[in-house]
Amino acid sequence: MGSAGVGRAGKKLALVGIGKIARAQHLPALAHEPAFELVAAVNRDGPLAEVSTFDDMQSLLASGIEVDAVSLCTPPACRYELARMALDAGWHVMLEKPPAANVTEVRDLEIRARQHKLTLFTTWHSREAGGVEPARAWLEDRHVESVRVTWKEDIRVWHPGQQWILQSGGMGVFDPGINALSILTRILPGKLTVESATLEIPSNCQSPIAAELVLSHAGSARVDAAFDFLYTGTPCWDIEVRTDRETLLLADGGHRMYIDGTPHIASLDQEYARLYRRFSELISSGACEVDVRPLELLEDALMAGQRRQGAAFHF
Ligand code: NAP
Repeated sequence: MGSAGVGRAGKKLALVGIGKIARAQHLPALAHEPAFELVAAVNRDGPLAEVSTFDDMQSLLASGIEVDAVSLCTPPACRYELARMALDAGWHVMLEKPPAANVTEVRDLEIRARQHKLTLFTTWHSREAGGVEPARAWLEDRHVESVRVTWKEDIRVWHPGQQWILQSGGMGVFDPGINALSILTRILPGKLTVESATLEIPSNCQSPIAAELVLSHAGSARVDAAFDFLYTGTPCWDIEVRTDRETLLLADGGHRMYIDGTPHIASLDQEYARLYRRFSELISSGACEVDVRPLELLEDALMAGQRRQGAAFHF
């Protein structure tokens, strides 16, 4: 265990899994969020400054330290067990995306949270990007004709050394790609279904490094989605929606919105500040917010996918 926490008012929160996203987003967001007081961390890499730090969840539970809520930032494969322990301890739970290894696990966590009258929050940070709600409102009364998703980034730049990501349960290129599915399921007015998928899996890995999906929107419009983890150019996180009138482009992961090429929204990154504010509201109102639709689509794609073996991958 590391040094003792510095007190502030707010719900007492433990942060579990101090890797890239915890350091880049969760810790800075928590530092500015008075609704939470960071009282503990679980980090396998040593103590965090000014926060009581534990090697694993069991040690945190055994410590008896007072905790109201936990935010889980580990890879998704181990999140179910951690969330279950937290709920059994009477703690509210916020889950990084993807919320767990599969939908069944999330459903079970939801039942447990409701039984214990605790908050379970499955976060989808990309939905908090500034262009997403305006895009949803703009699309509400338009007829969607086709959609193109381009989600391409360099795994070596954005996920350096994250061996888990291409192994079983890591979800591969869908670890970032599920962000696109989370935006699509928020902005498009109709239901999405997976029609077909091709998945490229390196010969020494278990999860796809590239994928192409064809989905159908509202049973009529075609959605083409391309995901690539070996893309070494400027990363591209774009969704283009052609409607019967104009064409909408959500670029930069939802932060910029264009209509027929004209810029309409360019937002600052407030995603994690909004997530923690929402978590606080959910706890105060005694509610759960659980949405598994992006994970369902991913499961359908993995089930339907034709697999191609690709070259071995090494970081
Ligand atoms: P990461 O850098 O590999 O960090 C994960 C951390 O969790 C590591 O410190 C790891 O420790 C720790 N961990 C693993 N199993 C644990 C356990 N059982 N108990 C406690 N700690 C454990 O991964 P990341 O990029 O932060 O991604 C984590 C999650 O955040 C993923 O679901 C990802 O989709 C999501 N996310 C990532 C990004 C991004 O840009 N990277 C953005 C948004 C959301 P070890 O190193 O010792 O294994």
